[in-house]
Amino acid sequence: MRLPLVVGNWKMFTTPAEGADLAAEIARRLGNLQGVEVVVAPPFTSLAAVGPAIRGKGIHLAAQDLHWEERGPFTGAVSRGMLEALGCLYVIVGHSERRKHFGETDQQVNRKIQAALCGGLRPILCVGEEEGERAGGKLREVIRRQVSRALDGYPAGSALQLAVAYEPVWAIGTGKAASPEDAAEAHQVIRRQMERILGEGPSAAVRILYGGSVTGENVAGFAARPEVDGVLVGGASLKPADFAAIVRGGWEARTRVG
Ligand code: PEP
Repeated sequence: MRLPLVVGNWKMFTTPAEGADLAAEIARRLGNLQGVEVVVAPPFTSLAAVGPAIRGKGIHLAAQDLHWEERGPFTGAVSRGMLEALGCLYVIVGHSERRKHFGETDQQVNRKIQAALCGGLRPILCVGEEEGERAGGKLREVIRRQVSRALDGYPAGSALQLAVAYEPVWAIGTGKAASPEDAAEAHQVIRRQMERILGEGPSAAVRILYGGSVTGENVAGFAARPEVDGVLVGGASLKPADFAAIVRGGWEARTRVG
């Protein structure tokens, strides 16, 4: 059974002091969590401040991106080793905002995933279609291509370290979440594609998350689907009460029932 995973992506919000306060409040509200793994991804500049606020509280630290080189003349970039030194266990790779605003390609996403694996950093790969691609019947083709290119060369023995987030671009930050049925269908496409790349056994270990306008109100619909192993949360992860409601109302509840 895959342990449910809830990830909060803080994007470009919070100073170090604000991040530490937000993390402490999330930890306070979640208390002693069982049966669900919780991760927060502050901006690079807040990682050092957030780390101590969640240490020993069952919440893990993630970065929102990394560079594929370990060091060198790459102004503004941050490497795997630097993130691990700050206590990061996870790293988000290929978020649609990076693809869209920073021109990140599938090939770069692949290099970043390989770089993360060189150490102990666990990649959370983001994939998802644009609204026009879905309308044009290209959903499966787009997702399969993104997964294949990102995971080309991925070692099957490291499947446990991998998570994939299905994030339809039209659902991110719009308040227009996908239906649980649409999410489940896309998750099945991702799982089948991973089976082709990693093999059936290793692929079964990979957690597939849904992301896009998840709230405390709609999370239960996603949690009810066996294809959905957790959620990647943007806006609502900046509000401790909402984020705690997502963890408790969706994933902790499912574990108790299951
Ligand atoms: C995200 O940033 O990955 C995301 C899903 O954002 P939101 O929850 O705000 O749609």
